[in-house]
Amino acid sequence: MLHLKRRTWDELCRHAQETFPEECCGAIVVNAAEEEEVRRITNVQNAMHARDPRHYPRDATVAYFMDPKELLAIIKEVESGQVTLKAFYHSHPNHDAYFSAEDKTRAMFGDEPAYPDAAYLVISIYNRTVRAIRAYRWDEETRDFVETGLSTVS
Ligand SMILES: [Zn+2]
Repeated sequence: MLHLKRRTWDELCRHAQETFPEECCGAIVVNAAEEEEVRRITNVQNAMHARDPRHYPRDATVAYFMDPKELLAIIKEVESGQVTLKAFYHSHPNHDAYFSAEDKTRAMFGDEPAYPDAAYLVISIYNRTVRAIRAYRWDEETRDFVETGLSTVS
């Protein structure tokens, strides 16, 4: 079960609404004061698609690619111990909150999960209205991502 602060949940919804009909993406970290912080990351999928449509056939309405510099800055913070990484998130505009094969590929580094301790949140949003947020975690036994419960706390 993953517990998320109500304020964090609201921020994820806002981010998904602002980038609609494109996917949003980002990370949730926990600071030294045990507070959750939502770190928005720019979805550069459209730039990747424009530069190399053969390797990146999808545009930002159906895919996300986290800006590598912004992601690296967050990972550096995590590695230095300033914050802990709680989850990554992205939205599915006009689709349900499933964890797609593409999402799994994005979360892997070769045969291993890139961030085995992080949860992955998927936000389903239709017409700028969030329908659901679902959480997935790496399961070592099945070697796959499985859904885990998600609840909000104040
Ligand atoms: Zn996805």
